[in-house]
Amino acid sequence: MTTIKASCPTCGDVELTPPQVRLVVCTVSAWSFYAFHCPECAEEVRKHATDDVVRLLTTGGVPAEHWAVPAEVLEEHAGASISWDDVLDFTLALEDTDVLAAIAGAVPTTRHLA
Ligand SMILES: [Zn+2]
Repeated sequence: MTTIKASCPTCGDVELTPPQVRLVVCTVSAWSFYAFHCPECAEEVRKHATDDVVRLLTTGGVPAEHWAVPAEVLEEHAGASISWDDVLDFTLALEDTDVLAAIAGAVPTTRHLA
């Protein structure tokens, strides 16, 4: 079985087998990563996986999990974020809308006959 040499920030160089390594390849390549539980200290180590690392790990037998980031995540947002006050104001506005809808439903409509 292929031996994969990796580095733990605490323990230094460690050797792993492909089933011990998790590889996640993201549609945003900067977010691709590989992770493993260090065989020495048991801490999870997670590092960015460059295209070269992805290629090395997959050819070494590590299956790649594919992660498709929804387009909304990549949208740029301007302005302040929504606060609890905004949510409460929205709730109050919905209640007003219910009153308006009830009034509108009570008003007889004019029907035109052909
Ligand atoms: Zn370690």
